[in-house]
Amino acid sequence: MHKRFGVIALALLVSACSKEAPPPATHLDIVDAEQHPEQWFSHGRTYSEQRFSPLKQITRDNVDELGLAWSFDLGTSRGIETTPLVVNGVMYATATWNVVYALDARTGQPLWRFDPEVDRSKAADLCCDVVNRGVAYWQGKIYTGTIDGRLIALDAKTGEKLWDVVTVDQSKPYTITGAPRVVKGKVLIGNGGAEFGVRGYISAYDADSGKQVWRFYTVPGNPQEGHESEIMAEAAKTWTGRWWQYGGGGTVWDSMAYDPKLDLLYFGVGNGSPWNQAIRSPEGGDNLFLSSIVAVKPDTGEYVWHYQTTPGETWDYTATQHLVLAELTIEGAKRKVIMQAPKNGFFYVIDRETGELISANNYVPVNWATHIDPVTGRPVEVPEARWGKRAPYLQLPGPLGAHNWHPTAFSPQTGLVYIPVLETPYVYGDDENFQQSDVGWNVGANPGLGSLPSDKAQYLALRAAVKGRLLAWNPVTQKPAWKVEHNSPWNGGVLATAGGLVFQGNADAKLVAYDAATGERLWDHFAQTGIVAPPISYELDGEQYIAVASGWGGAFTLIYGGLFPAESAPGVGRLLVFKLGGKAPLSELASRAATKPSLPPQEATAEVIAEGQALYNASCLVCHGDHAVSSGLLPDLRWSPLLGLKDAWNSVVLGGARAGQGMPVFASDLDEAESEAIRQYVISEARLPFEDRFEGE
Ligand code: CA
Repeated sequence: MHKRFGVIALALLVSACSKEAPPPATHLDIVDAEQHPEQWFSHGRTYSEQRFSPLKQITRDNVDELGLAWSFDLGTSRGIETTPLVVNGVMYATATWNVVYALDARTGQPLWRFDPEVDRSKAADLCCDVVNRGVAYWQGKIYTGTIDGRLIALDAKTGEKLWDVVTVDQSKPYTITGAPRVVKGKVLIGNGGAEFGVRGYISAYDADSGKQVWRFYTVPGNPQEGHESEIMAEAAKTWTGRWWQYGGGGTVWDSMAYDPKLDLLYFGVGNGSPWNQAIRSPEGGDNLFLSSIVAVKPDTGEYVWHYQTTPGETWDYTATQHLVLAELTIEGAKRKVIMQAPKNGFFYVIDRETGELISANNYVPVNWATHIDPVTGRPVEVPEARWGKRAPYLQLPGPLGAHNWHPTAFSPQTGLVYIPVLETPYVYGDDENFQQSDVGWNVGANPGLGSLPSDKAQYLALRAAVKGRLLAWNPVTQKPAWKVEHNSPWNGGVLATAGGLVFQGNADAKLVAYDAATGERLWDHFAQTGIVAPPISYELDGEQYIAVASGWGGAFTLIYGGLFPAESAPGVGRLLVFKLGGKAPLSELASRAATKPSLPPQEATAEVIAEGQALYNASCLVCHGDHAVSSGLLPDLRWSPLLGLKDAWNSVVLGGARAGQGMPVFASDLDEAESEAIRQYVISEARLPFEDRFEGE
């Protein structure tokens, strides 16, 4: 890094002597991030992915003067998860359907817009809405992954497409929602799809040409076809049965980090596919590299070490959560660590040179394991939790995790990791009707068991148990420093700044600033729609800015629309940019009060409605919501004009009439009587809306 910095300094000196303009600043990128706190060059700002801004103009004392500098309408009311980048005064951000925007970071004036024109039917292959978490920048180019599995390079100045490569077998339900990273001229990208039956991997592409350089599979394929590498042959020893027929999972859908000194690239690996290990690998086994943190050489993809957080994963306990590199003093010794708060509820501090576990402790209440054995590094499981073919088990955390994709932040000033935490209990139980060929979401777990209870007392007890908080965690002592309870489990990613502040958006539609040391709430701004994306900070002309994208969405909101505060309701997502003394107005979002049509008569018997509910839970719930309550991201079926039109309803469910908008075709799973039973169930939900049942509670 110093060598490179020296080259730039020399270039500046030469240009000063010859009275030419300094070299174009586009030659700076993430490699220079430590020397350029005013930029936000990459997803986690630096290769350490700390999401810590060294800027300190905005402080605990003046944060109450923070006001809107500008806003920009992203033209979509579906999920917005982007981390904007800011490079040399230009902001790069993504919206739904992989549209990329470049804006003047001073004013919000749009410079260019790129639409990769993704096939809308791909929405059927996404677990968690048509989201994207951001782009990468490298040497004057912008890189973006698309939900149809492409990796695209754009000219950062013009938005012109430079190359476009397909990174997946597009006949399979692979998707990309994560941000690429760039290391040593290679663009790194994984994919998602472990709820639909795919085999995970991460690939590296040449940043200039788009040519594939290497690929690292995270789970073994069919041994009879020969393993791609020795490490895959080793991994295959930890699997049983015919796992490859199910894909196996292990998708690398989000987190990466890089240590330039050790020259190690780290990435997090997702859950098994299907979830239920009793189907996927019936005789058990650790199932490497599911739910692991893996270290490889970035030039070749050669395996170096791994640490598996959840051996024999069977609960959707991904280890794809945000990875953070830091130097910590532990028992008097300086340690280079990698840290993660994965879905399984334990916070891990790992030696990033060797993969050795330094410490682990649960950061939320958990009941699937008692602790992590410090000698073996393995969780000590509670036997009932390994549900498989056994009795269902009410478990903490559930499949949404104790922490989902929303990035954590680490402040070297406070030494604390700030985690957007969820507490979402869930009943895991076998799906006796599992068939590998089933359309869409297919995980081998009975989704009806996780449905919100219609019994009032049970519902209120569950709602009280579902929590969300911002947790400040001390990774040295493995204990909480402070916590702030939220009104809802699903909230935004986190930013820490050298001004002693932590910023987080939430389901109350507010961006909030907290004292990083104490958690005291110091400032907030009402965004008019929920926020899940993480804030960033940058500086231009001596002024520090805080930026965040508003916009409500993601898995939790699709499934449990009935659990959220009204303020979170999806409105048009926007980039919101703040500075001290900012006075820009935020226009009111148009009211979107639903017009409820007159309801069709309920003609079916209770038996048919019950059958319809079971079918709805198996095929419809994960997108259209528990009890058919939509969060507003997708059409609320209860108020659909099709609800009273049996033939039109069947043409959508069985005939593919809305396939172009991402609605799957269920003709191979359901017959006409079953489609009709689902319609009758939705009519019953419309006549007694779930959200009205416990009104005033
Ligand atoms: Ca998953």
